[in-house]
Amino acid sequence: MIVDFEYFAPKTVAEALSLLAQHKGEAKIIAGGQSMLVVMKRGLLTTENLVDIKGIDALDYIKYDEGKGLRIGPLTIHRAIEKSPIIQKHYRVLSEMEHNLATVQTRNWGTIGGNLCHGDPAGDPAPVLIALNAKLKIASSKGERIIETEDFSQDYLEVALEPDEMLIEIQVPTPPPHTGTASEKLMVMKGDMGIVGAAVSITLNPKDGVCKDARIALSNCGSTPLRAKKAEKKLIGKVLNDSLLIEAGEVASEETAPPADVHGSSEYRKEMVGVFVRRAAIKALEKAKAA
Ligand SMILES: Cc1cc2nc3c(=O)[nH]c(=O)nc-3n(C[C@H](O)[C@H](O)[C@H](O)COP(=O)(O)OP(=O)(O)OC[C@H]3O[C@@H](n4cnc5c(N)ncnc54)[C@H](O)[C@@H]3O)c2cc1C
Repeated sequence: MIVDFEYFAPKTVAEALSLLAQHKGEAKIIAGGQSMLVVMKRGLLTTENLVDIKGIDALDYIKYDEGKGLRIGPLTIHRAIEKSPIIQKHYRVLSEMEHNLATVQTRNWGTIGGNLCHGDPAGDPAPVLIALNAKLKIASSKGERIIETEDFSQDYLEVALEPDEMLIEIQVPTPPPHTGTASEKLMVMKGDMGIVGAAVSITLNPKDGVCKDARIALSNCGSTPLRAKKAEKKLIGKVLNDSLLIEAGEVASEETAPPADVHGSSEYRKEMVGVFVRRAAIKALEKAKAA
């Protein structure tokens, strides 16, 4: 049952931030409502004031600049990211990740900002954005700040936002030359939430083929998305081959202690981390070689 609340529909960011400041601690943002309504209907969240930002057109955009990289407004729906020609050309992994996120109907209404701010560790976008070294721009009526995507999730359904703050931009840098990024998730059916997921980014030195940098991020292995830093170290500084990628998967698996859930035991999900890191790393390496 949803408890009564005051409803506001600001048309500008300034208006929304002013409402959040005015009702500090007693207001919640709603965008598409796909995650928010679930927690409200279950009584996990009540609020006196609901600030509906879906009508703020200025937060719905995809912009690309070769130097600055990609900027995505938080109200951009998943389907727009999946279908964006700019993203398909320069950040294909984002489009591929979105293609496997939920159904077309869900992708046509749910927003990237809502997905990140919901703080579900099973969410698909966060690990890919972490692998791409993306940053998030946060605003309140007092000013703006930038946070690394990997520092944004704090705990299960908790993110690093103060009650008067909102996410206003996702910033994805231009990947270094000879970089490939790929993501894979274990699903029962296409579009399901991942039982586990992995995103891997690999940068090669074109002269000798040595891996200059690697970033590995995992979903649904704990209360937040995780970075598998020991597995990254297995790859950096080496000429990559199949056995190294298998080893990186095994190390990533050892770095996790996923809880058991209805989809699988902790041991099964841990094992699958190894498999899905390896699969994503194979694809990332292929892309890096072709880049
Ligand atoms: C059937 C179904 C299947 C799904 N499958 C997947 C899947 O396979 N993979 C996956 O990753 N996700 C999946 N999802 C989750 C889906 O991606 C999210 O529900 C959706 O993106 C949330 O966006 P929203 O605009 O509806 O956010 P809302 O539900 O409106 O908001 C979610 C949270 O974010 C906060 N919020 C929203 N925007 C902002 C902002 N700009 N600043 C600060 N706080 C903000 C809200 O206060 C709320 O806490 C699925 C959801 C459904 C309903």
